[in-house]
Amino acid sequence: MSEYIKLDSDKISEAVKTIMDFGGTGILKCVQCGACSSICPGVKAGFPVLCRLLIKKVLDGQLEEMIEESSTWGCQACNRCTEICPQGVRPQEVVFAFRRYQANDLAFSTSAVTSQMNLYESGHAVFTDARELRKKVGLTPEAPTSAYNEKAKKEIQTLLDNSPMGELGIF
Ligand code: SF4
Ligand code: SF4
Repeated sequence: MSEYIKLDSDKISEAVKTIMDFGGTGILKCVQCGACSSICPGVKAGFPVLCRLLIKKVLDGQLEEMIEESSTWGCQACNRCTEICPQGVRPQEVVFAFRRYQANDLAFSTSAVTSQMNLYESGHAVFTDARELRKKVGLTPEAPTSAYNEKAKKEIQTLLDNSPMGELGIF
C-alpha cells in the first residue's frame, strides 16, 4: 500500500469556518503567494505568524495549536496586506478574526492586554508621554490627541465598554 498524507479534513473545515465566522471571510481565496508578508511591518518587526503564514496554519487546521500565538497582536492594522493582495483575501481581516478567536478564549498575550489598557486610558494602543520632547523642539506640549482630551477619552471608553472587549472584563 502506498504511503500518503491524510489531511484531517474535519479539523481543517472547523478551523476555516471559525475564522470565517469571526470575519476572515476571504481566507479560502489565498494562493499563498506571500505578497502580503513581504510588505507587512509586523513581520518585519519580528511577528512572523501574520499574513501568509497565519493563513497557511489556519488552512492546515492548526487553530488550537496557535491559540496563544502572540504574532497576531503585532498587527498594526495598516492594511498594506489588503492593498497588495492579488486575490482580494483582505488578510488583515483574517488576522483580526484570529484575534477575536483568541479573545473569545481569553488567550491574550501580556503585550495585548497592555495595549488594550493603553487604548482604554489614552485612546492609543502605544502611547508615549512626549510633552517634554515637544517643548524642547518648540511645539505645544500636548499633541492634539485623545490622550489630552477628556471628552474624546470618555467616548473611546464608552465604545470599548460596549464592545466585545468590554464584555471580557479586562478594563
Ligand atoms: S497576498 Fe493574498 S493571496 Fe498572497 S499570500 Fe497574502 S493573502 Fe494569500
Ligand atoms: S494590516 Fe496587519 S497583517 Fe496586514 S500588513 Fe499591516 S500589520 Fe501586517
